Amino acid sequence: MDISVVIPLYNEEESLAELHAWIKRVMDEHGFSYEVIFCNDGSTDHSWQVIEQLAAQYPEVHGIKFRRNYGKSPALYQGFQRAVGDVVITMDADLQDSPDEIPELYRMITEDGYDLVSGYKMNRRKGDPLSKTIPTKLFNATARRVSGIHNLHDFNCGLKAYRQDLTKAIEVYGEMHRYMPYLAKNAGFTRIGEKRVHHQARQHGVSKFMGWNRFVNGYLDLMSLWFISTFGLKPMHVFGFLGSIMFFLGFVAAAIVGAYKLIAMSNGNNPGLVTDSPYFYISLATMLIGTQLFVAGFLGDMISRNSPERNNYQVEKTI
Ligand code: UDP
Ligand code: MG
Repeated sequence: MDISVVIPLYNEEESLAELHAWIKRVMDEHGFSYEVIFCNDGSTDHSWQVIEQLAAQYPEVHGIKFRRNYGKSPALYQGFQRAVGDVVITMDADLQDSPDEIPELYRMITEDGYDLVSGYKMNRRKGDPLSKTIPTKLFNATARRVSGIHNLHDFNCGLKAYRQDLTKAIEVYGEMHRYMPYLAKNAGFTRIGEKRVHHQARQHGVSKFMGWNRFVNGYLDLMSLWFISTFGLKPMHVFGFLGSIMFFLGFVAAAIVGAYKLIAMSNGNNPGLVTDSPYFYISLATMLIGTQLFVAGFLGDMISRNSPERNNYQVEKTI
């Protein structure tokens, strides 16, 4: 099979039939063999009935139904597990992403050799509120910086194409669908490209992601991704290092405080109590924090030893 189209959706009943018809038109025109996997993320409207009808009518239509709303990332994860096409294309269900982009995305994966091609929404709809466009700019700048993938303008575009083995290798959870390219890079799939795509205004229903709070969660996810990819397998390297440095500084400072007292005493002066000096407390606190950091690193290492992920290396091929 050439292409699997994976579509996460939450309450998009008005769009599904039209989206399917559009995808089918494009696929038939180009003679692709394909499947469409609708991942119904706990919709409370009639989305699932629409999917059932489509599946009854068209053998290439499949559906996954969540019992409740988990989020876009879990929906994508399930779709990825199920996909069998050589190229996996994800798109939003709300008709904002155009199926007309599919053939070129497919070509970039199969002929240009990309592992992942991300859409870049060119004609962002003019009516987008500032509360959406400004955070989006900030978010993309941060994501580029942290991930080190400098050639992407738009991490969060729902329209993306993947080599199939990439979709099986990464585990999307939380709200990490915003960082697919970063997940791909961490799994060793580094040929990541971008294609400018048309983007339209939402025709039916309302956006399922609103306001600033999505970016707060987005940043937290980015931080944990960064931390896991940098230190996840060796927490002792960061905590142990910081802890040792702090402990050493504190120890030296305490020694200096003590030495002053001894020197003053040997000169016959009354040096007072070491506890009268603020430096005593600072050095004490530094040693305590250093010990804590060290222990945190140690615990982190013990946890990662027991983690089911400890040997989760991506094997590209076996013979
Ligand atoms: N979506 C989902 N689960 C959710 C929220 C959204 O599957 O909990 C789907 C939604 O139905 C749509 C896609 O994710 O197909 C993108 O959502 P939306 O269009 O609301 O986001 P926006 O375009 O406003 O960023
Ligand atoms: Mg949308």
